[in-house]
Amino acid sequence: MFAIDDHRQHARIRTSAGVRVSIIRDTVTRILRDVPPHVTVMAAAKGASPEQLRDAVEAGIRVVGQNYFSEARRMRPLVPHPVAWHFLGRLRPHDVRPANLNLFDALQSVDSADLAQRINAKCAASDRTMPVFLEVNSAREPQKAGVLPEEVETLLRSIVPLTHLRVIGLMTIGPLTGAPEQSRPYFSEVRRLYDYIQQLEIPGVSMTHLSMGMSDTYEIAIEEGATMVRLGTKFFGPRQR
Ligand SMILES: *Cc1c(COP(=O)(O)O)cnc(C)c1O
Repeated sequence: MFAIDDHRQHARIRTSAGVRVSIIRDTVTRILRDVPPHVTVMAAAKGASPEQLRDAVEAGIRVVGQNYFSEARRMRPLVPHPVAWHFLGRLRPHDVRPANLNLFDALQSVDSADLAQRINAKCAASDRTMPVFLEVNSAREPQKAGVLPEEVETLLRSIVPLTHLRVIGLMTIGPLTGAPEQSRPYFSEVRRLYDYIQQLEIPGVSMTHLSMGMSDTYEIAIEEGATMVRLGTKFFGPRQR
């Protein structure tokens, strides 16, 4: 019942471009004003239209997240402002190709030494260094991407020798079900891990980004130390898929 109501309301918003535009801009403006200055607000753009994303960028968004290479390829030329594109989706070995990597300024979902080596090899061939986040499976859900918290340091140390990757932070999703407050202990665990890695002072590793918190949980994530939050639904409404 609620889902149907939600859907209708969103459709009504979409019928009038002017109304839709001002809603996205107003939301972006308000959230950019309300978050602390050290927090970067990313627009998670999967399923959004190029027009919606442009509105968000015009209202001040400077980092765009995408889960799909095909969508990023289609959208990038349609968003003229200089924004950084971060990959958020599941990275499969065959996705690691220059045509895909070149669409992104950073990858947030690196979770294995094998992937890291493949990315490193492609980046070496095209003479670039890729900033990456290690994705932590903080909720320990077996079907979820990410490395378990206790395996992060080992993965990190295996990546350090790869000269065309630079680890700049951690990313986590946390549990996908339950009340937002239930994410707090998972965010706090990843924050402790982030602090721990920072104080190891591993050469070549700059732990400067802690990406956690989505539309329902970003305020909690910021309280627990996030430096980057990833908002999709909050800006663009419920996704069709
Ligand atoms: C879709 C997605 C988001 C945004 O989620 P919302 O709940 O729509 O804000 C954030 N992070 C990742 C990794 C995603 O896939």
